[in-house]
Amino acid sequence: MIERNFDNYMNQIEKVVKKGGGKSFGIDQEFVPVPVNGEIEVVLRLLPQPRTEEQPFVENRTHSFQGSDGKWHVVDCLRKAGHRCPICEWNKAVFDTFTSEDAKKISKKKAKKTFICNVYVVKNNAKPDTEGKIFRFKFGIQIAEKIFDKMSPKDDPDKGHIEGVQVFDYYKGANLIYKAKIGKYGPNPEASYFGDSKPISDKNNVPLSEAEIKRIDDSLLTLKECEKDTSKVTFEDVLNTYEKLCEGEKLFKRIPKEDGTMAYEPILPGISAGNTAATNAAVQSAVEEPEVDKAASAESTDEFLKDLL
Ligand SMILES: [Zn+2]
Repeated sequence: MIERNFDNYMNQIEKVVKKGGGKSFGIDQEFVPVPVNGEIEVVLRLLPQPRTEEQPFVENRTHSFQGSDGKWHVVDCLRKAGHRCPICEWNKAVFDTFTSEDAKKISKKKAKKTFICNVYVVKNNAKPDTEGKIFRFKFGIQIAEKIFDKMSPKDDPDKGHIEGVQVFDYYKGANLIYKAKIGKYGPNPEASYFGDSKPISDKNNVPLSEAEIKRIDDSLLTLKECEKDTSKVTFEDVLNTYEKLCEGEKLFKRIPKEDGTMAYEPILPGISAGNTAATNAAVQSAVEEPEVDKAASAESTDEFLKDLL
């Protein structure tokens, strides 16, 4: 019996779901499902982290935006590291100032979260050579919410009380039936769901042997290196990158303070003189922008699609 400690998993998934999606940089040995006729259907088993690490998944958080070159770019959201983030702060100022309807049009994209965990591919008709193997699996907030939901106990009007399922458990976990339709902005995994609780098995539903589970537990991939370290990225770094890529648009006025540090005052559309034309242009583009959370940053179409998984 391979014993793993799942005590703090619920806290961790709850934290990310409740906190409220982002492009992460390229990762090695990533599982990338192949669409067939515009649809993806694979059966996956989420796995615990390697024993040298503490979390079953790592998270990256970014803001995407369209630069003056017309391309999508990303900047790190600094709030994950507990720091002030210029994009989040500017958005907050917008929501504090305008009606929520106007603020939605004016605000920048909220941070997109991407998570990475270990996964065992149970069944993948589109690429059978991946079956029985372990990969790193990148997913967004939609799948994170489904994990949280499956792990949460609930009272069902029909079935009565339903215990939460520790989906990462080799024995009592559940398979993730990952289903996605390729839409205009990439794969949408909303139709994905978890099956019933059962031991990890092969694609014919034959439970894996203890030796096979031990082989998996010994081969889990490290996740820590897939987490982007933003602890040294500053408010000014992010703001500077944003303003360089969005020529003529200033989000904050920089006011040098006596102690040598800088104060930042948000420049909002129609309020701060001298910037009206640029921010009006920003409002215009926000109105015409495709669905915000689904249009992730991308340098190429492939990257664009991959990012939305
Ligand atoms: Zn942010």
